[in-house]
Amino acid sequence: MSIAPTIENDSAFLETLEEAFSSSNKDFARAYYLFATAKLAETYNSQEIYAKYPILSDEATFHRLKQLYDQNPQHEETKRLFTSVLGTYIGSQLAALSDAFQNAKNQLKVQVSDLGLKNGNGEHIEELLYEDVSEWLKKTANKSTRQALYDRMAQAYTDNLSSKFIELFEKENSLLAALGYQNVIDFYSHTSGHNLKRLGENGKKLVTETQALYTRLMGQHYQAVTGLDFAAEATRADISYVLHGHASVEMEAINLQFPQSKLVPLATQTFDGLGLEFSTVAQQANFENREAYEQEVVQKTDDIDPTKPALRRILLDIANREGKRSRAYVYPAAVPAEIYLSVKPEGGLDDYSAFFHESGHAQHFAYEKPDLSFAMALMGNNTTTETYAYLFQNLFMNAHWLTHMAGLSPEQAQLAVQRRALEDLYMLRRYASKMQFELALFDGVNEAGYSLTHKGSTYAELLSLGCGFKYDAEGWTRDVDAGFYVADYFTAWSLEAQLREYLCQHFGTPETNGEDWYANPKAGAFLKALWADGNLAQQDLSNRLGYHDPTDLGPLLRFMNAHLK
Ligand SMILES: [Zn+2]
Repeated sequence: MSIAPTIENDSAFLETLEEAFSSSNKDFARAYYLFATAKLAETYNSQEIYAKYPILSDEATFHRLKQLYDQNPQHEETKRLFTSVLGTYIGSQLAALSDAFQNAKNQLKVQVSDLGLKNGNGEHIEELLYEDVSEWLKKTANKSTRQALYDRMAQAYTDNLSSKFIELFEKENSLLAALGYQNVIDFYSHTSGHNLKRLGENGKKLVTETQALYTRLMGQHYQAVTGLDFAAEATRADISYVLHGHASVEMEAINLQFPQSKLVPLATQTFDGLGLEFSTVAQQANFENREAYEQEVVQKTDDIDPTKPALRRILLDIANREGKRSRAYVYPAAVPAEIYLSVKPEGGLDDYSAFFHESGHAQHFAYEKPDLSFAMALMGNNTTTETYAYLFQNLFMNAHWLTHMAGLSPEQAQLAVQRRALEDLYMLRRYASKMQFELALFDGVNEAGYSLTHKGSTYAELLSLGCGFKYDAEGWTRDVDAGFYVADYFTAWSLEAQLREYLCQHFGTPETNGEDWYANPKAGAFLKALWADGNLAQQDLSNRLGYHDPTDLGPLLRFMNAHLK
């Protein structure tokens, strides 16, 4: 069946396509919420939804859109639609292979019978699922057990999955070449709007400029947690334990100040203080049954009268029902009227900052103009929405907020800021290194003579230098994301620091170095004005902040140098 070519006019074609994207997105979001969160549906059937919108998976749609994109690659909406349809097209071409990879990964087991691990009932563990090993690495305090566990996991992956991963990698690159996009780096630079080469150079510069500071502080932290020498002993096996598996007495005391029950009240108080009307926009969602849900949510969204003021609605689901996913997530079904924000509060710093992160996404979507096209509202890359999410997550690095709103003592606030800033610097250097590695990996990938031979050693060299923990060469096949997603996150980091510096300078008081910007409703009004325009391109956001370069790391380095001592 071929639908796309029957629509003669290009703009009618694009409109039909956007309508299908918008409606199917609403269907997917509602189905997911009902199944995974509200527990009001037994199953989640994505095939059924895809079947309702044949235009989205029709190959003719892909080829027609490709033609429109190739004719006018600068047109932002076409570019966003094409990028999305290309993802679906590549996904369908590689489906058999990637399903096989995923299934093998889900079933992969790691033999640990000689490592002395015990489960919650004190019983000896013979084998672990590959997917569960990372949780064990986080909680295994014994260095040699942890290393052995990591090595087994890495070996199991190398033996069973590496070659499948490489096959997928090669097939995807040759597919792009066959479509006329031989130079993968140039192609993704254009579709994402990232200057990937510059990001690589910045990554290198960042690692160099923060080398002495990072090595000293992570070295002290590593020594305090493990009693061992960082330069001599630290490996990739240690990372999650050292950063997240172990809390000092002081950090435990801080975690206790963030109980489960205070999470939503603290967020509400903060965002209301910014003038974001969180207590009105976010409505608690907890539905007795499907009928109540249909009436309260679906009908109210679908019966919107465009002549009335916009319905802005975050459906905040904090209920603790059985089987509900615990990780916080945001799913915009329709902007700005129906945005799901789900969390199962547990308490503690990590839980709180994850919720503040998601509430940044949710409020961005809730303040978008209702008349934006789907492509401008929700498509494009993730850089600017991640920027808004990091902005609120990073209140946990704001000493003024931690003392005045969250109730920490000044000493506790200082400690919390230093710990978070160190974790952040680690992540930033990791992304800076991944950025450089992925550029090396994709350089000339579709040209004759390209070889993977030295890629592993390049990976180990770059990541070991950036993170300070020794990386194994084979590990690169577990650490590459499709389509240079790493660039979105790396850029969101520098862009968030630009936004934060702007807010401090314009809406904070000099006595607090601007840190009290969060208490100024004018800062909220400024954010609302940014959010109104939908999913801004990263260059546009940086222009509006007066930096004119989303990759400018200046504000971020100024912050790190001021707070890490
Ligand atoms: Zn996010």
